[in-house]
Amino acid sequence: MSTKQRFCRVCGQPFRFVFDSQVCTTTCGMRKIRGFDLAYLTELPPDQARARRSVHAAIEDEIFVMKMATASRREGRATRRNLLKVKRMKVAL
Ligand SMILES: [Zn+2]
Repeated sequence: MSTKQRFCRVCGQPFRFVFDSQVCTTTCGMRKIRGFDLAYLTELPPDQARARRSVHAAIEDEIFVMKMATASRREGRATRRNLLKVKRMKVAL
């Protein structure tokens, strides 16, 4: 999914997202922490709720993949830095 919009996990409103945000406002973020995650789905007809649930699952996957990619990039940099350090130490000896 590469749309610029996501559905808030608490109130279900579409919002423009930044990176890994899954709620539209900090208010909804607080409600999510208090256990209202996906609470709005209970007010939807079962068919819509099921469809929306899979949308949220896809978003979670997407965020997970993004975080993995970021982490492995960071790790790659650290590994390269360590290799350089080792090389420099050998030169110094
Ligand atoms: Zn919201």
